[in-house]
Amino acid sequence: MSQNDNLFKKIMRGEIPSSKVYEDDYVYAFNDISPTAPTHILIIPKAPLDSLNELTEDDAVTAGRLLVTAAKLAKQLGFAQDGYRCVINTGANAGQTVPHLHLHLLAGREFGWPAG
Ligand code: AMP
Repeated sequence: MSQNDNLFKKIMRGEIPSSKVYEDDYVYAFNDISPTAPTHILIIPKAPLDSLNELTEDDAVTAGRLLVTAAKLAKQLGFAQDGYRCVINTGANAGQTVPHLHLHLLAGREFGWPAG
């Protein structure tokens, strides 16, 4: 069950300011406040999902929209060809700090692998 109030819900409601990049019926995208790459965008679903752990078959469209939005922004913002990274931290071991599903869209530099 998703919490009624968390940081990203407040951002979507406009109660906390954000640097909006994109919005549609399914997702809201905004610049990360502490970017770890020249481009660091967070794409979040409007549906109240805490993390990937909450996804069911019913959320397939919503989940797909996160990826479709990442691909669309990569093309629109001009880094699709150079490459980019999508990250969804899930739970404590992955370092998820905000309990609302979010996809990090990172671009503008080279990324190492394996991830830290
Ligand atoms: P995670 O660690 O995967 O849960 O990612 C949470 C992200 O939210 C971090 O990259 C933070 O820098 C970012 N963040 C925290 N507060 C804000 C805010 N007010 N506006 C934009 N991004 C934020």
